[in-house]
Amino acid sequence: MPGDLELRNLRLRDYFSPRQLDRSEDYERFFRIEFVVSQVALVVALALYAWRGARFARESAAGRIGTGMLLGMLGLAVGWLSQLPFRVVEVWWQRRYDILDTGYVDALVDNWLVLGAEFLSICLALLIVMGFAGLFPRNWWLPAAPVFVAIGALLAFTLPYLGDTERLEDSALRANARQLARELDVEGIPVDVEEVSDETNAPNAYAYGLGPSRRIVLWDTLLEYPDDEVLVVVAHEFAHQSRDHIWKSLGWYALFAFPGTYLIARFTRRRGGMAEPAAVPLSLLVVVMLSLAALPFENAISRHMEREADWVALDATEDPEAAQRLFRRFTRDALAQPDPPEWSSALLDSHPTIEERIAMAIAWQDRRRGP
Ligand SMILES: [Zn+2]
Repeated sequence: MPGDLELRNLRLRDYFSPRQLDRSEDYERFFRIEFVVSQVALVVALALYAWRGARFARESAAGRIGTGMLLGMLGLAVGWLSQLPFRVVEVWWQRRYDILDTGYVDALVDNWLVLGAEFLSICLALLIVMGFAGLFPRNWWLPAAPVFVAIGALLAFTLPYLGDTERLEDSALRANARQLARELDVEGIPVDVEEVSDETNAPNAYAYGLGPSRRIVLWDTLLEYPDDEVLVVVAHEFAHQSRDHIWKSLGWYALFAFPGTYLIARFTRRRGGMAEPAAVPLSLLVVVMLSLAALPFENAISRHMEREADWVALDATEDPEAAQRLFRRFTRDALAQPDPPEWSSALLDSHPTIEERIAMAIAWQDRRRGP
């Protein structure tokens, strides 16, 4: 991305109808409020658990780490229950705007799978932390942080093999995608399709994997779009791979892992440190608070990589018109508000705003035309 890139202010009325602007604003405002309220509910629920939960530790005969895991599970249940009403309300709102087609039961079943994964991660994390804390009560975080980073890398590598995706079949699209892959030096990275159109109408795509497991995935909802717009997405996802964004994310994760685990160790000392099961309820609260505090930084890093991927995609496709049409669809079809309030995009958005993305495509065009 050129360092001196200046984006023009757009007149959104030129790109969207008043109804599209209103509708996307109404849709997204709800989620902003809901996010704030749900996080307050989560923190309050876990604070109560941190205050009263430790007493369950005395009644367990599961051993030190076993008792810690029991308390971890109980904390997960407390957090999950505090979020359940919000999950239901989210489904209701998305159905209201025709973004989601699934019923409440299906949405909650999906939620069960997430819960299962969270359950396993909490048990594994407690095993590592409490194991090391038994050996090094004050400095367990020094060996634990690299283990967490290694697990993150292992997950990033294996996830593509667990995903339920199929190779892209459309031969014209595949030929064009191969051309883009050559241009971006990521030849051999496959393009997969994930079937989601039974559940949602929203378009999406992602890049994941490391080394030989690298691939990009398009939601089948995206394949309804004209080929030139799909290719903008393909180029954007290839750009994530060609610029090693997954490795860079892991690097950032490592940078956060050391101070993060140190702070957990520091804050749980008043409950005897992480070697003690009684510290587990408090540690869950600390983890949630630290994640919330890290969110704006995480999103700023993500937005930076997304901007880079957009720019690289413009260079590769040389099709700023298709890029603009695609971004406009994100507002029209997925109800992304083109100009959310600044505090909200700074804190909560992993991607640049639609307004910014369109302005970048225009800036690319301007540069190509020259002064
Ligand atoms: Zn992206």
